[in-house]
Amino acid sequence: MQQRLTIRIQPQDNVAVAVRDLPAGTAIENGVTARDPIPQAHKIALADIPKGDPILRYGVVLGHAKEDIPAGSWVNESMLDLPESPSLDDLSWGTNLVPKEQLPDPPETTWMGYRNATGPAGTRNLLGIVTTVQCAAGVLRAAAERIRRELLPRYPNVDGVVAVTHPYGCGVAIDAPMAKIPIRAVRNLIRHPNFGGEIMVVGLGCEKLTYDRVLPPEDITPDNVLTLQDCPGHDAMMDAILALADRKLQRLNQRTREPLPLSDLLIGMQCGGSDAFSGISANPAAGYAADMLVKGGATVLFSEVTEVRDGVSLLAARCVSPAVRDRLAEEMRWYDSYLAAGGVGRDANPTPGNKRGGLANIVEKAMGSIAKSGTSPIVEVLSPAEVPTRHGLIYAATPASDIVCGPCQTASGIGLQVFLTGRGTPYGLEICPVVKVCSRNELKAHWADLIDLSAGGIVTGEQTIPEVGTELFRLILDVASGRKQPFSDQYGLHNDLCIFNPAPIT
Ligand code: CA
Repeated sequence: MQQRLTIRIQPQDNVAVAVRDLPAGTAIENGVTARDPIPQAHKIALADIPKGDPILRYGVVLGHAKEDIPAGSWVNESMLDLPESPSLDDLSWGTNLVPKEQLPDPPETTWMGYRNATGPAGTRNLLGIVTTVQCAAGVLRAAAERIRRELLPRYPNVDGVVAVTHPYGCGVAIDAPMAKIPIRAVRNLIRHPNFGGEIMVVGLGCEKLTYDRVLPPEDITPDNVLTLQDCPGHDAMMDAILALADRKLQRLNQRTREPLPLSDLLIGMQCGGSDAFSGISANPAAGYAADMLVKGGATVLFSEVTEVRDGVSLLAARCVSPAVRDRLAEEMRWYDSYLAAGGVGRDANPTPGNKRGGLANIVEKAMGSIAKSGTSPIVEVLSPAEVPTRHGLIYAATPASDIVCGPCQTASGIGLQVFLTGRGTPYGLEICPVVKVCSRNELKAHWADLIDLSAGGIVTGEQTIPEVGTELFRLILDVASGRKQPFSDQYGLHNDLCIFNPAPIT
């Protein structure tokens, strides 16, 4: 069977995406011949598109042709205008609520996790030591290294020690309205499900982010917090941190995995380094896995405001109530104003790599990005770093930046992140495992030991979305249950924890 050369998503689309590099003169499906060399993942015009006419992919207007585009031309990002941002007023809600019975059945309904007293279960059993200020980060990292070397071998049931260091805490306008976001992030990171309820916070002693901003009074005890300025020198700091860590490790070592229902699992989805295949293969496969998880009772977060902004009406149609729709519009509106205050618009996304990967603009990127949310109804909308109160599919508003979305979702309590990529990134998180899925087989061949799963078989036509989606579902459960380690954890490839701080620095 001859491999297909292009993929058209909807019958009304007037562009298709090249499955591989197509030399000029290649006769493709639909009786069109390539006038220009079409790079892999880039778009080819399927008909003459007169100046001013819409360019349609996913059945959606990506933009309007700036000049006449003859059939067979390479349609790149310089050839179309960006349409106006969709309105956030009077969005219809609930017009596309897929009933639960129509979602795909999960092939497994239990996993092995660490049960917590409240909230989602842990996917790892970690000692998490959180700083209240960057000034303590150097000491804490050095102490964590000693804990790993000197203490951890005595506690075989504990998977690791994480120094949760971040740039927030001092030199910041702590009472600015938007400081609530980074403060909430630190507060929720302290109680991450993978830390098993053991609170350990290290501060300097003079920072603005005081203990009472991240802990209730009853938890501010010598058993939970440690202040470096109270310690007489370096050796005393190390001794104090190691002694406190030892007590925490004794308790964490009592924890074991047990079979749990999917309702105890909370995961996040994010994409990064996307290409024009992301919306064809990796993201729809992730969406299929998300639908299986939701049907089984799990909670799935998807995020990245600028990458859903242009598809907001599609999301509103999946909101279960006007209140959820209003929260969605509120988060979009806030992000519009945040971008405007910085003198940019949503076209500040995509990246040069996205464009090389065939994504013409943010509309095209958004349509691919939304695919990872599957088809389930949206039951809740969260502000950055908030913790869910419902089970099911949840829109957790965050920046799209990989290294900021990750910490936001981590603060929301995810036990695992599924990361979809087209261009490739070695990205990983230390607090929870990251499963990386690529959109095309070439990337899996190039980075065989960095990408956990390829969805490229969907592009070539060798696999279906349900097949790869089911494979991903099983991989999610294997990794969440500790039966498999993703490559980023095997090699210890972990990004810094860049907490989202939209408030001023002083
Ligand atoms: Ca991202």
